[in-house]
Amino acid sequence: MHIWAVANQKGGVGKTTTVVSLAGLLADAGNRVLMIDLDPHGSLTSYFRFDPDSIEHSAYDLFQVNGKIPNSLPGQLILETGHPNLSLLPSSTALATLERHAQAQGGMGLVMSKTLAILWDDYDYVLIDSPPVLGVLMINALAACQKLVIPVQTEFLAIKGLERMVRTLTMINRARKRPVPYIIVPTLFDRRTQASNKSLRSLKDAYDELVWHSVIPVDTKLRDASTAGVAPSALDANARGVKAYESLMSTLLNPAD
Ligand code: ADP
Ligand code: MG
Repeated sequence: MHIWAVANQKGGVGKTTTVVSLAGLLADAGNRVLMIDLDPHGSLTSYFRFDPDSIEHSAYDLFQVNGKIPNSLPGQLILETGHPNLSLLPSSTALATLERHAQAQGGMGLVMSKTLAILWDDYDYVLIDSPPVLGVLMINALAACQKLVIPVQTEFLAIKGLERMVRTLTMINRARKRPVPYIIVPTLFDRRTQASNKSLRSLKDAYDELVWHSVIPVDTKLRDASTAGVAPSALDANARGVKAYESLMSTLLNPAD
């Protein structure tokens, strides 16, 4: 099982879009793929037409068993998306209550790692969507993953938010046996605008080889796919945005390239 997380302490940077695009492409290639929605807003859950406000079982259930996750539980929470290889462990708005109460209880940071240990043989790839808040849910995502994608919107002040995210990661990496390798992915890039070009340049100046060599362009097809409730590659496999995510997928699969 390969576990990738997508995180940034900023909303609206393309986290959920990155999860669903990469997950769809990996599933198209025949892999068994599980997406995990750890954002209490539940955008990824809503994307596939489940309602995080009224959903009965979700990732929240995993945090309610005092660290002892029954082997049968994770499988019971997983929903199908309509794509034969693409499954979803949904979020519910109840997850928001964890951020308020969980700090007090120790050991809450490993719930996802334990869950994925149970599901280890069932999926080839797991992609975790993370909330834009440094709290118990993001810590779970960062503790469980083997690779981290940090989408950064190419706009004014993007670097400020990134600095916080990288500080968080440095802190988490100190607590982990093996540090998480990460890649910064410029998103929502509009090559006609000065803001996009300037912020891409300053990203590269500040973070150098940690920045992916290409960009995810603005592509309305990615938004259309969310309206249609299907992974972007299922809507239009040739869309510019899909092609860009395909190239990101190969970078993640072959880091040496
Ligand atoms: P986050 O999960 O970081 O909050 P989202 O992935 O939900 O961000 O993206 C925020 C909004 O921008 C959504 O409406 C999404 O459809 C849109 N979006 C994301 N990436 C792109 C892109 N490359 N081109 C066009 N729209 C995008
Ligand atoms: Mg999101």
